[in-house]
Amino acid sequence: MKVLESVVCPFCACLCDDVVVAVDEEAKRVKEVRNACVLGIKKFLAAGSAALTETAGRIRKPRVRGKETTEEEALRNAVSILKEAEKPLVYGLGNTGYNAQRIALEICRKKRGVLDISEVVCHNLFYQVLQKHLAESEGGEAKIYYATLEQIREKASLVIYWGANPFASHPRHLSKFSFYPAGMYALRGAQDRELVAVDVVETPLKKIAKTFLRVPCGEDWRVAEILRRLVSGETAGVRELAEGLDFATLSAIATKMKNAFFGVIFVGLGVLAGRNAERNISALLSLVEALNAQRCRFVLFPMKGHFNVAGAVTLLLRETGFPFSVDFSEEAHAEARRAEVRDEEDKEESEERGERVACVFKPGVALEVLERREVDAALILGADPLASLPRSVASALLKIPTVVIDPFESLTAQFATVVLPSAITGVEAEDIAYRMDFLPLRLQKIVESEFPSDAEILREIYRNL
Ligand code: SF4
Repeated sequence: MKVLESVVCPFCACLCDDVVVAVDEEAKRVKEVRNACVLGIKKFLAAGSAALTETAGRIRKPRVRGKETTEEEALRNAVSILKEAEKPLVYGLGNTGYNAQRIALEICRKKRGVLDISEVVCHNLFYQVLQKHLAESEGGEAKIYYATLEQIREKASLVIYWGANPFASHPRHLSKFSFYPAGMYALRGAQDRELVAVDVVETPLKKIAKTFLRVPCGEDWRVAEILRRLVSGETAGVRELAEGLDFATLSAIATKMKNAFFGVIFVGLGVLAGRNAERNISALLSLVEALNAQRCRFVLFPMKGHFNVAGAVTLLLRETGFPFSVDFSEEAHAEARRAEVRDEEDKEESEERGERVACVFKPGVALEVLERREVDAALILGADPLASLPRSVASALLKIPTVVIDPFESLTAQFATVVLPSAITGVEAEDIAYRMDFLPLRLQKIVESEFPSDAEILREIYRNL
């Protein structure tokens, strides 16, 4: 039996790095997991041979058109689908390692396809609104109010979860980074911090939060705007704007914000992808700007879900200059040239960065090309678009050949033309993942697997294209 310490959990974007795992090397399986939450434990225990993991939802064998086959045959079919495609879509990438993401990007470049990540239906508006705020910032002085999770743990005295339920999505977030752990300025942990929850429904956070504010669906912007006015001392019209809301609680939150030594607002998909998302995000950014203008140190922190979605964003920013939704196709370039989207300066910059094939940024491109039937094949990795994209868009995937690489069964895998089972990244294969605050961490291979890694499968596809 081998015991490994400080293992990184590859389930959610918290990437908890204090997990202890006992491995039965002979049986090639994880025997025991400590320090992880139930979601993490389940993923570690799903590792091992296919025979042992049938119940863990693993894909047991490669499939072509629903029939089990050999890996060589499945790979041959995957390559031929992508070879024949004139404009393929490469989609997902949130639940795979950075090295696999790099090869997926290279495949897309080589095929002059379209690449989009799961952020297109999660945090896409956040990046766009943030970019707009930075561009419009006073005197052109752009500021991003950012902190790492460690800085938050050491300093935060006021922790706000807004439209987020970490108990369901990131079970150790509160105990490892935000509310419970002791920090330099919160020596007694939770006793030295205040927890506030803002949401459209009551969540388990209500039980532990000192203050809970219920917001009508899609009206987060109104709450943020009232708080902004209250912390800035602009009281005119505030009462009217707060009609139907709990004004006493709003005033109490504004006072807590102004008195906080260091505050953080963790925003979830309830705000970032819900009704009026753009307006909500914009109002929250303005609130954080107003707080910092009042010398109250505050940061806004999106709760990223998939374990390496931050890696995909980092890769795309590094390689293309855009966080998601990039189109490498000829038409996109022609269109961009016509619209004069890219000026000479941009071109020179791209050349300096050594980009082989330039791309065009089109927010929401995956949804667009699927809806308009503009892609003729799809390579899907680390995502389940049939379960997560809007039905009208997702159904287009059923009409084109799709290649799915995944360790686990999913709705998309069930309907895929080719399914290639892979090793679980961070348990059966090593790689790199970026935590939700963009800190890169090394994922270990802790147990042998009969499946190749995502990176190995992609490399083989790339080599044969
Ligand atoms: S909170 Fe996330 S990273 Fe941490 S143990 Fe649970 S699933 Fe794993």
